[in-house]
Amino acid sequence: MSSPHATELVATARALCAPGKGVLAADESTGTIGKRFATIAVENVEPNRRAYRELLFTTPGFETFCSGVITFEETFAQSAADGTTFVDVLASKGVLVGVKVDTGVVPLHGGLDGETATQGLDGLDARCAGYYARGARFAKWRAVLSIDRASGKPSDLCVRANADALARYASICQKNGLVPIVEPEILTDGAHDVETSAAVTERVLAAVFKSLSDHGVMLEARRTGTILKPNMATAGADAGDGGASTEDVARLTVRALQRVVPPAVPGILFLSGGQSEEEATAHLNAMNKARSISHWFPYDPPWALSFSYGRALQSSVLKAWRGDAANVAAAQEALLARGTANSKAALGEL
Ligand code: 13P
Repeated sequence: MSSPHATELVATARALCAPGKGVLAADESTGTIGKRFATIAVENVEPNRRAYRELLFTTPGFETFCSGVITFEETFAQSAADGTTFVDVLASKGVLVGVKVDTGVVPLHGGLDGETATQGLDGLDARCAGYYARGARFAKWRAVLSIDRASGKPSDLCVRANADALARYASICQKNGLVPIVEPEILTDGAHDVETSAAVTERVLAAVFKSLSDHGVMLEARRTGTILKPNMATAGADAGDGGASTEDVARLTVRALQRVVPPAVPGILFLSGGQSEEEATAHLNAMNKARSISHWFPYDPPWALSFSYGRALQSSVLKAWRGDAANVAAAQEALLARGTANSKAALGEL
């Protein structure tokens, strides 16, 4: 696919996965940020959401670990207290701005119980053009799948429908100058082991890259660039003592990726998916550290392996802030600490 934005798309894709940098996922919908605020007894109203995102984006040193921020559409249109738009606040730090462009999930009729499809393709072309004109340079679309060995989840239909929607979204983004972040998230719900998670991750990603190819989506940063945002292969949240070691997660995640993600992809920026802040950092560090351990992998992973964390960058920030302006500096210190640790993990330097 040729795009009038090709040169800029190349630069965007490269910048997003620059060495030692990752993305802050601050694109919680109004409902989801309400759940986060409920844990610290903060009311879910627009002034609080705006103040919280200003705290994040104006953190001193933010640009040392953060290459881009994914925003929810409300945040994308908001401004700092001094009237500077968040897009300009971030641009002044050299941080790219992205927008979550899907509109959430609905039941997938014909799929297994609880399976979903992600919506948001209607009108997406015009919305992407509008976001680009207002300063966005990348986008995100999240597909959600789950594992249940008893019922056979994820079903082939669910895998195929979500892969095709991700590919259509990605091609529409590239046409409009936005680098697509392709996010097929396999939830950790369940008691499955890490090997099962790795096998399902491999199966889902194989389908996603087949669809991206079928839809003519360009992968490599030399042409336009597509960023993959997958889950790590972890044991299910209810696996109890069957949980996996840091090395198991790192090795089986990279093994699954190496089997099905083309080397043309410039970067893989993981979601944290309910891991603790420390676990998410340790897993990322172990993957990057292993780059030089030849007995783990048949060859060195060809892509940047970094982060696009939501909860694993923000949990301690929320606890430090608690909605009180007097705590802003302490909350920003917490963000810088998490960001710096993940920046080092993206280089395997912890
Ligand atoms: P978590 O890192 O909290 O999983 O969020 C990342 C994200 O963008 C999920 O869509």
